[in-house]
Amino acid sequence: MDCYVCRSKERFDTLPPRERVDADEHWRVVHAFDSRLPGWLVLVPRRHVTSIAELTDAEAASLGTWQVRLSRALTAVTGCVKTYVMQYAEQAGFAHVHFHVVPRPPDIPLDHRGPRAFAYLHAPPDERVPEAHMDALAIDLRRHLTTESTP
Ligand SMILES: [Zn+2]
Repeated sequence: MDCYVCRSKERFDTLPPRERVDADEHWRVVHAFDSRLPGWLVLVPRRHVTSIAELTDAEAASLGTWQVRLSRALTAVTGCVKTYVMQYAEQAGFAHVHFHVVPRPPDIPLDHRGPRAFAYLHAPPDERVPEAHMDALAIDLRRHLTTESTP
């Protein structure tokens, strides 16, 4: 099985901050590796599943909480006005279910809003958020996730 998410899962204990922003027993949060938009997060189940319908009740129970907590952290850390949440898992090698949780900056161009925000993804290497910047963001986000009080 050629799965990008599961390949990195084998290195879980040594993953850099950008590949393990946070995690629990069901979910892991990573920074998208090929985005030009700082803070583009991806929420992945720890198990290999290729359809949302395959998630267990336990995995489903914390899915909404993760999406909301990540949205709060992104708002606090990036200053975004809201977040976008999308899940397709259609690209070859990326069939593992993954929820994009994307900060929507206040000044985003009109032609990059809504689904067209994907123009920020699949950027050429020299236009991607640098790894050091992704790691710094990941550490800020983790600090916010760790310290925020649960309502
Ligand atoms: Zn997988």
